Amino acid sequence: DSPPHPDRPAGAVRLEGLAKSFDGRVRAVDGVDLEIGEGEFFAMLGPSGSGKTTVLRMIAGFERPTAGRVLLGGVDVTALPPFDRDVNTVFQDYALFPHMTIEQNVGYGLMVRRVPKAERAERVRAALAMVRLEGFERRRPAQLSGGQRQRVALARALVNRPKVLLLDEPLGALDLKLRHEMQAELKRIQREVGITFVFVTHDQDEALTMSDRVAVFNAGRIEQVGSPAEVYEHPATAFVAGFVGTSNLLDGAAAEQVVGETGLFSVRPEKIRIAHPDDPAGPDELSATGRVAEVVYAGGHTRFLVDLEAGGRLTAVRQNLDEGSADVLRHRGTDVVLAWQRKHTVRVGP
Ligand code: ATP
Repeated sequence: DSPPHPDRPAGAVRLEGLAKSFDGRVRAVDGVDLEIGEGEFFAMLGPSGSGKTTVLRMIAGFERPTAGRVLLGGVDVTALPPFDRDVNTVFQDYALFPHMTIEQNVGYGLMVRRVPKAERAERVRAALAMVRLEGFERRRPAQLSGGQRQRVALARALVNRPKVLLLDEPLGALDLKLRHEMQAELKRIQREVGITFVFVTHDQDEALTMSDRVAVFNAGRIEQVGSPAEVYEHPATAFVAGFVGTSNLLDGAAAEQVVGETGLFSVRPEKIRIAHPDDPAGPDELSATGRVAEVVYAGGHTRFLVDLEAGGRLTAVRQNLDEGSADVLRHRGTDVVLAWQRKHTVRVGP
C-alpha cells in the first residue's frame, strides 16, 4: 500500500490485487495494485499482450476480475455492471452508430438516461464545442475524417460528465501528424474538463509527453509507476529502461570495469558525451573507451553506436546544433571515449 502523493487528491480509481485469467490459461493480469488521483492524466504503457487493455476493461466493468477489487471514488464497484459505474470508455475504433447523425451519436447516452430534450441539446452543443466540432451536428460518421470521428467519440464519452474517462489506444488509428495534433487536443480537453483520464498506449512517446504519471506494464504486472521524468531518468528495472527510451545497458565485465561494481546499469544516450581519446574525463565522470560502430543521422540529432573495449555497446546522442555537426571526426571506426556523470548511472538489476 503506497500512500497517495501529497498534492494529488486520492482515490478516483483504486485497484487492489487485481488479476484476470482467461479459460484457466496464463494470467493476462497478474496482481495489479494502483491508485489514480482525481484529475490525473494517467497512462498505462506496455507492449502488446501485457494486460493493459484487460485492466482498462475491468475498470469499465466489461470484464470481471478473477481476483482483487476495483474502487471508484472510494466505492467498491467490482460487482457492478458497466452502466452503474461513473466511467465512460473511448474505444480505438470509436464505435459510433453509422446511421445516426453526429448530434444523435453524442446525445445517445443522455437520451437513454431520459435527460429532457432542451438540456440534452444544450449539453450536446457544449460537448461538440469542447472538441471543436460545431457545425457538424447533422452529418453522419461516414462524412467525417478519422480525426473528426475521434473527436465525436470523445464528445460522446464526455457528455455524461463521467468521473473517469477510459481511453483505449485512442489515437492508434490516426496518422502521425494527426496523432500529434490530437495529443495536444486531448491534453487541452482534459485540462478544461478536469476529469480523470486513464489511457492505454504502447507508444512510449505518447505516454511520456501526455501523462502526469505512467504505469509500465510487463506480462500482466506493473514494473514501475511514476512521473514521465521519474520513469525515464530512474528506470526501476531493465525492462523499463529498455521499453521507455533506448535500452543502454552495462553489465558483466563492462559494469565492473566502467562502473566499478557488479550488476546491471542503465545510462541514457543523451547523457553521454563523445570525446577524443586524449580528452580527460571529469572528476565526477565515468568513462569508457570504444570504437564507433555506426553513425545514424536523424536530422535534429545523430546517434553513435559505440562498441566498448570492456565489452558491450552503448549509444550516445548528440544534438546537431550546427550544420555539419553530425561530425566528420566521428565516423565508423573512430576510437573515442564516452564519458558521463556518475549520477546518471542507474542500477536496474543485480
Ligand atoms: P494490446 O496492446 O495488444 O491490446 P494489451 O497489453 O492491452 O495488448 P491485453 O489485451 O490486456 O493486452 O491482453 C493480455 C493477454 O490476455 C493477452 O495474452 C491476450 O491474448 C489475453 N486475452 C485478452 N482478452 C482475452 C479473451 N477475451 N480471451 C482470452 N484471452 C484474452
